[in-house]
Amino acid sequence: MNGVELRNVTKAYAGLTVMENINLQIADGDFLVLLGPSGCGKSTLLNMIAGLEPTTGGSIHINGRDVTGLEPDERDIAMVFQSYALYPTMSVRRNIGFGLKMRGMAKGEIEKRVAEVGELLQITPLLDRKPSQLSGGQQQRVAIGRALVREPSVFLFDEPLSNLDAKLRADMRIELKRLHERLGRTIVYVTHDQIEAMTLATKVVVLDKGSIQQVDTPENVYRRPANRFVASFVGAPTMNFIDGKLTHDGDDIVFDSGSGCLPLINVPAEIRDLIGRPMTLGARPEHMVFDDAGISSRVLLAEPTGPDQYVRLAVAGSELTARSGPEQIFKSGSDARILVDGARMTLFDPQSGQALLGS
Ligand code: ADP
Ligand code: MG
Repeated sequence: MNGVELRNVTKAYAGLTVMENINLQIADGDFLVLLGPSGCGKSTLLNMIAGLEPTTGGSIHINGRDVTGLEPDERDIAMVFQSYALYPTMSVRRNIGFGLKMRGMAKGEIEKRVAEVGELLQITPLLDRKPSQLSGGQQQRVAIGRALVREPSVFLFDEPLSNLDAKLRADMRIELKRLHERLGRTIVYVTHDQIEAMTLATKVVVLDKGSIQQVDTPENVYRRPANRFVASFVGAPTMNFIDGKLTHDGDDIVFDSGSGCLPLINVPAEIRDLIGRPMTLGARPEHMVFDDAGISSRVLLAEPTGPDQYVRLAVAGSELTARSGPEQIFKSGSDARILVDGARMTLFDPQSGQALLGS
């Protein structure tokens, strides 16, 4: 298969296993994002694909070739790091072309490729500057240029935007997405930033403590989290979790937390099979609906963000966050009625944390 494949990859540092039996297929042309909290093993996984870190067990295949024992420069990959690691004494032009020169490529071909990459990244006017004469975003572009110029079949990025300020990060995100759409090359991209993952990825791999939690499209990772870890890691403000059980209230189904019953609307038929079983209800702030048919709650605080406001509520023995439009006024201490959109909520097994039904 073209693309990248990890088969039963294991990694231990000094006898301590940090990743076990990782199996992953990255299709040719995918923009695959490895997402997870600090220390979950993202860089370790990427470095094993790059050949910078040996695997302890299993094998890695790039475009159908077993590269497990090969050096980084034999793997047809190029990597971009968080630190740009540009050569300070060399011009941008030489920084970008240096790798090609080391491989003995003809001068004319190097010049042609550097010029093309310069155009693509819109850094042609900067080619004769030194790195110290560039902004952070421009330096990052040069680092990307150095990877592009090698024309590898797979690009590996380790948190490449983390050193940039928020505005520049958003701009570079768009550029990276365009670049991927234009080049169609396989990208494996590491980040702890869920917004980057959601906006860039064709496929997201959520990692926790060295193990894969879910491999899915960004939409599905958000809408159909496989377990409670994924549900809480992705989405801000975070999903609300309430322990309790589904029960009947006349013809309706409600969620009983033990201290109050949350009314549900749009309840899918399959949910009837789960009535009475202990579980955790997961509802994102936008799955909470202000409605006169809802349960009474007390407004603790309203947090306007511009287009929306997030309203913190004391309800059914819990503190929950609900999203509202900007117009309505929520005074602290006042009463608001709230219910849950049953079509979009997720239900979790309280012990394993696994999602019980997709929603
Ligand atoms: P991430 O990139 O997701 O923040 P890493 O891949 O850097 O995480 O680290 C994963 C785990 O492996 C962590 O528990 C980390 O402490 C451990 N680790 C990483 N590098 C080394 C190393 N060189 N020696 C020992 N343990 C390491
Ligand atoms: Mg890392």
